[in-house]
Amino acid sequence: MAHLILKDVNKVYPNGFHAVHDFNLEIMDGEFICLVGSSGCGKSTTLRMIAGLEEITSGEFYIDGVLANQMSSRDRGIAMVFQSYALYPHLTVYENLAFGLMLEGIDADIIEEKVQATAKILGLTDYLERFPRQLSGGQCQRVAVGRVLIRKVNIFLMDEPLSNLDAKQRVTMRSEIKQIHRGVGATTIYVTHDQTEAMTMSDRIVVMKLGVVQQVGTPFELYFYPRNLFVAGFIGEPPMNFLHGKVEGGMLKLDGESETTLDISPIANDVEALEGKEVVFAFRPEAVNLVKEGEKAPKDGYTFSSQVELTELLGDNTNVYATVDGVNVILKINPHDTPERDTECVFNIPYKSAYLYDKETELAVETDIKRH
Ligand code: ADP
Repeated sequence: MAHLILKDVNKVYPNGFHAVHDFNLEIMDGEFICLVGSSGCGKSTTLRMIAGLEEITSGEFYIDGVLANQMSSRDRGIAMVFQSYALYPHLTVYENLAFGLMLEGIDADIIEEKVQATAKILGLTDYLERFPRQLSGGQCQRVAVGRVLIRKVNIFLMDEPLSNLDAKQRVTMRSEIKQIHRGVGATTIYVTHDQTEAMTMSDRIVVMKLGVVQQVGTPFELYFYPRNLFVAGFIGEPPMNFLHGKVEGGMLKLDGESETTLDISPIANDVEALEGKEVVFAFRPEAVNLVKEGEKAPKDGYTFSSQVELTELLGDNTNVYATVDGVNVILKINPHDTPERDTECVFNIPYKSAYLYDKETELAVETDIKRH
């Protein structure tokens, strides 16, 4: 296992492009960390600097307390699984797994033992004599992971390892990788653009945008306490709803013709400090409660009226595409309560599920409200 520290790490490519800005992170022994963010935000660059495949322009990188900036890739005790897992097509699964060890001149007996043990962890025991073309995409991916696992490593790096698989295989491999991690215990850094993958697999997630870390936290922390608008919009599917407005006379006046005003004192510590500011009122699609006809809306929340444009029954829930004073919102509700198209739908957002962001700084407005 390994304990890693990245301190003010920057990457400026030779063409002058500043791809990673002041990256700071301490990774504990055996932790599973996901780097997540849209394409081009610097995830792979960060991973490649950790792997020693890309030079660190400035800052410090420590492995178990030892400065590793100049350490060769080989000496870092790192193994990496890439997006494209080129297996040797003319070698069997057994030979693919054994290949690296054979090159190192390890005894055949030991190789046999290691291949069998690795195959067992990955459920490949019955496939050892097959060639890659006789395997499914998921099985190939397992062999690729196995080739890395078979070597004793302290740090496991994965760059979008599931992107070549179909949706169903991805879900299966997600839990497999998690189980393998539990069994092997190596510190793991996993790059993905898929927030669901990050949410389901990680101990902690690092959300990046344009080379800058936006927030580091457990999936729970990122979901309930997104610290800025980017994280709020990135984590969660469907994404958070945003309603824009301005604070006037201690109330939030939402943009739009209806001039809806909301008392934001329950969800902002210092309403006075917000006076005159543009803010964004946010809530998750799944946080809303429908207020049915004849029912009274709960007092400890915000009640809105919306126009239903479209409904999508997904089985376990319905996504309702609606508008609140002309602004598009998505509501995720119980399928048994699916409203009709072109009708009015009244919903309530409990205070604990309502968020406020300062539009200028994009940061969450300070609040003591407990969200869970
Ligand atoms: P991600 O993995 O998040 O998709 P990358 O780390 O691959 O992003 O890239 C981050 C940014 O750095 C992108 O804008 C990319 O175009 C740029 N970049 C990557 N490699 C190089 C390079 N060798 N030279 C210049 N710019 C690069």
